[in-house]
Amino acid sequence: MLTNLQARDVETLIHPYTNLVAVRETGPLILERGKGVWVHDVDGKPYLEGMAGLWCTALGYGNEELVEAAATQMRKLPFTHIFGGKSHDPAIELAEKLKEIAPVPISKVFFTSSGSEANDTQMKLVWYMNNALGRPKKKKIIARMRGYHGVTIAAASLTGLAGNHNDFDLPIAGIRHTTAPHHYRLAEPGESEADFATRLAADLEALIIAEGPETVAAFIAEPVMGAGGVIVPPATYYPKIQAVLKKYDVFFIGDEVITGFGRLGTAFGSEAMEMRPDSISVAKALSSAYQPIGAVMVPELMYEAMLTESSKLGSFGHGYTYSGHPVAAAVAVKTLEIYERESIFERVRAKIPQFDARRAALEDHPLVGEARGKGLVGAVELVADKKTKRQFDPKLGMAAKCVAFCQQEGLILRNVFGDAVTICPPLVISPAEIDELFDRLTRALDKTLDYAVRENLL
Ligand code: PMP
Repeated sequence: MLTNLQARDVETLIHPYTNLVAVRETGPLILERGKGVWVHDVDGKPYLEGMAGLWCTALGYGNEELVEAAATQMRKLPFTHIFGGKSHDPAIELAEKLKEIAPVPISKVFFTSSGSEANDTQMKLVWYMNNALGRPKKKKIIARMRGYHGVTIAAASLTGLAGNHNDFDLPIAGIRHTTAPHHYRLAEPGESEADFATRLAADLEALIIAEGPETVAAFIAEPVMGAGGVIVPPATYYPKIQAVLKKYDVFFIGDEVITGFGRLGTAFGSEAMEMRPDSISVAKALSSAYQPIGAVMVPELMYEAMLTESSKLGSFGHGYTYSGHPVAAAVAVKTLEIYERESIFERVRAKIPQFDARRAALEDHPLVGEARGKGLVGAVELVADKKTKRQFDPKLGMAAKCVAFCQQEGLILRNVFGDAVTICPPLVISPAEIDELFDRLTRALDKTLDYAVRENLL
């Protein structure tokens, strides 16, 4: 029986990434307020927000400094754009700060309101650059199966998940997907992580050669795949991949929308994974999600090409109304200030051993095939048989069941493709709260196991 608010919801809202039929029966969980890592629903029940919203509320809920930063900027100048040579202080300061902390040499910053817009912009800039460089055929972009880059037409095309393509008539032309660095699922029997990484680099090289290197413009990758199931590549993966990219002059786009700003214990995930992208997309934790903002961090080579091409055309013909929105930029500046002042990334590093140990211990659970992760992000992949790694029929939605049991236990997590349950708490989670998170998840896994036994699913 739906509450009044739930009934109004299902009569009016289209929920993103939701079973649109089921939600009409169950109604949504309606949240009302939050403090720290806790959120409360409209009935006052508290939940530990184990996903930091959607991998984004890095500083947790109820951060008054961020609220103040937004209010102050709203009073001063709630909006001005940066088209046609206008500007404002928060955008300038934020771009300066991003350049300063970038893990690779960055020349300029282009602002967006989301990760999808950042990755769309990346694609357009690569095409624009290659036109300026006089190589109009070099336009294809290689992404990876199970990579997640967003949902706009170009970003969804880069995303390597069938659910984002089916019946949307995607991907668009010129996008290719190479093998995911998923050792647990894709390694040959007995293949070491190092050999697996070598094979994946060979796969990439074979794809570039088959397409024609003169047609391949860029490769895009998340340091650690998030929405594809928290897939952590082998240690030697990026150095091997980068050697191939260099050989064929393929531009490397780093998608740091989840891993940017401390998630892996370093300012950027690239640093933790020996990844050396040419350009970088960020969003989410850039403002701790208190305002929608993303950015593309552009190297000098690309900026030079933009100057050339735009002077030929008269203007650089790309930009969003809210590119560098002053309130979003002011909140992001404050967020970066807090990360630095409170040594948030160092403190994340100190929490990793406990998080790792609790995560790794879940692999002893009868339903968990692999409990993987890096830094403060992880996933458990559910299996029907640990020895053979046999998966449940996807139609059973076992990870979704587990997430529903988590919700009963007062823990918010997410299920993603491949029957994985993902964990990505606010960076400010305390050691006691980390224990609480894993205790609740363990109880939910036990309930999921009881359910599987009861329904004869094993
Ligand atoms: N890239 C990555 C790695 C992401 O995880 C996401 C969002 N989960 C996006 C891009 C898209 O960001 P947005 O939803 O803000 O468009």
